[in-house]
Amino acid sequence: MTQNKIAMVTGANKGIGYAAAEQLAAQGMTVLIAARNPQRAEEAAEALREQGNDAHALVLDVTDPATAEEAARQIEERFGHLDVLVNNAGISGSGQVSPSDAVDQIPSTVDLAMVRKVFDTNVFGVITVTNAVLPLLRRSPAPRIVNVSSAAGSLTICATPDGPLAALPASAAYSPSKTALNALTVQYANELRKDGILVNAADPGFVDTDINNHTGFLTTAQGAAVIVRLATLGADGPTGGFFNDSGPVPW
Ligand code: NAP
Repeated sequence: MTQNKIAMVTGANKGIGYAAAEQLAAQGMTVLIAARNPQRAEEAAEALREQGNDAHALVLDVTDPATAEEAARQIEERFGHLDVLVNNAGISGSGQVSPSDAVDQIPSTVDLAMVRKVFDTNVFGVITVTNAVLPLLRRSPAPRIVNVSSAAGSLTICATPDGPLAALPASAAYSPSKTALNALTVQYANELRKDGILVNAADPGFVDTDINNHTGFLTTAQGAAVIVRLATLGADGPTGGFFNDSGPVPW
């Protein structure tokens, strides 16, 4: 009997994370819906099961290492290993306000506590979760890690005066957190290359979700497509890269 591949998506109860879980499940994977709220995790897993998928809820707040360790323990007990980790959970720091409207992130006036909160989730949370499940990923024949980043994390794009993000207010929280996530992606990729673990960053594009108060123009399914592509790379696939649906994104 062959076992399904096992994929865990953080922040999978809604938005891009849910859509990524849905697409991974459609490829025959068992999906673990990791969410900080138990009820929301269970409801999302149940919705996927109703579509005929194998989906399970896990309680995981990426800012709480104890929940990451407990999630890893449950995965080990139930499945023995993990094939795919999607580090998707993220916050803008500005509540349900588009990062593009986030004047409260302007560097000269930003609240440092908010910057810390954003980094706690978008950067340190990724280290917490990745390290908690890495021993389980090492047991997979083809482990893949996808970090959900953003074009707002691209220094090249942000530093281009007439570039696509030039009209946005400067950001000391969300954008730098995604730049740091990109840097982490490269460092994890460098460490894990020799072990065959492919680690890449995904830019989903501007997607219609709660994080931007539904101002995005892509569907969650469209945004999730690049995540799923990177989660299912063949052995000759890239590692340490940054991609959107059309190809590489400049650092
Ligand atoms: P969303 O609908 O607001 O979803 C964010 C998810 O992250 C929710 O499930 C949320 O859980 C979860 N989350 C937040 N903090 C968490 C924590 N401490 N522990 C566990 N889960 C946590 O937004 P989205 O657009 O789908 O965002 C998903 C990812 O895509 C984020 O990393 C975001 O930065 C990135 N992204 C989005 C866009 C876009 O245009 N939408 C563009 C570029 C990148 P709750 O439901 O409990 O709050």
